[in-house]
Amino acid sequence: MTGDPRIDLPVARPARTVCRVLRGAGHEAYVVGGAVRDALLGRPVAEWDVTTGALPDEVMALFRRTIPTGVDHGTVTVVIGGTPIEVTTYRGEGTYSDARRPDEVHFGVPLREDLARRDFTINAIAYDPDSGRLVDPFDGRGDLERRVLRAVGDPRERFREDGLRVMRAVRFVAALGFDVDPATEAAIPGALPSLRKVSAERVRVELFKLLAAPHAARGLAVAERTGVLDAILPERSEPIAVVDALPPDAPLRFAALIAGADARTAGRVARRLRLSNEDRRRVERAIEHGRAAYGPGWTDADVRRFVARAGRAHAMDAALVARAVHGAADLPDRVRAVLDRGEPVAVGDLAITGADVMRILGVPPGPEVGRALDRLLDAVLEDPSQNTPDALAARLAAGE
Ligand code: ATP
Ligand code: MG
Repeated sequence: MTGDPRIDLPVARPARTVCRVLRGAGHEAYVVGGAVRDALLGRPVAEWDVTTGALPDEVMALFRRTIPTGVDHGTVTVVIGGTPIEVTTYRGEGTYSDARRPDEVHFGVPLREDLARRDFTINAIAYDPDSGRLVDPFDGRGDLERRVLRAVGDPRERFREDGLRVMRAVRFVAALGFDVDPATEAAIPGALPSLRKVSAERVRVELFKLLAAPHAARGLAVAERTGVLDAILPERSEPIAVVDALPPDAPLRFAALIAGADARTAGRVARRLRLSNEDRRRVERAIEHGRAAYGPGWTDADVRRFVARAGRAHAMDAALVARAVHGAADLPDRVRAVLDRGEPVAVGDLAITGADVMRILGVPPGPEVGRALDRLLDAVLEDPSQNTPDALAARLAAGE
């Protein structure tokens, strides 16, 4: 491949070392994939992947520290000075009968075939850090310049054989702000049956990457007009533009998109998409409390009661959803003020404890203690200056 362009990319030292050692042993080796794409765009690169003609056994024999990450698929992780580098053997793929994984992979193919199995032209560029030579058979660089996402080969076939690729497509649009090439986009609706075969977890990982990306609404717009969004999130109740009214925080934006759902539905969607328990709780609480009937007549005490109901950890989420979906324009700032002032919003913030209550009232442990604390909290939410041991003890003694 003489005549390929030469260019200087800032490849991290461990990846350079891996390529040099493999080449020194007589194998081809290139950095490849997302790292080359991001380096060409001048974006920071988190992980450098290497593609090589060496077989997994040969890779493992050449380096002191290796992890057989996915040897059947040709992937070995090489650890250089604490940095893991994924090294994958040039690989061709047979047919896909389940729309998720190829039925077989085979090694011993040329680099071009390894690049041809990749999803998008911008992800199918290899780079030799020693010579500075790019191998770019599908004009990924041109597409990077045109800011276009284009499938490698026949898009209908590529999306059909692996349904996850349509999720990756909308995710890359959201991450890069690119357009989808018309023929590639036109192939997405036909791939929805393949998408339905992809595990909910992998779909959610891509959806959350999309939602946390700088151009999330743009990715969602493609997902909406191609039917992807309906396929993965039929419960969506809000226009996709709501994500622009929220910080790039995936669970929060997800909550806003389904803010019209009742509590049971929200929980069901979160379970179906295998959100972590923590994310599921965030989503459920943001939806439930974000629906509060906020109005300009709310006093500071009303805002404190809102924070108390949602809980300190979830109040800002709820306020942001309330603003993005229900027009509660200044609620987030008012919640922020309550939190910043450290005002008491939970029984645990009271200036006296359950033990104090038992002593002052002369009662044993039991529900009465909890009820007394709740009444004290109500008083303190109304007027935080009441939160002193003396004032609370006096209220208790007075039977309030
Ligand atoms: P990211 O920045 O999220 O890591 P990436 O493009 O590096 O994006 P990876 O999942 O790390 O994505 O995959 C590395 C490379 O492997 C891709 O750039 C692409 O060449 C190829 N690849 C990954 N997933 C697929 C897929 N489903 N179909 C075809 N090729 C894929
Ligand atoms: Mg990557």
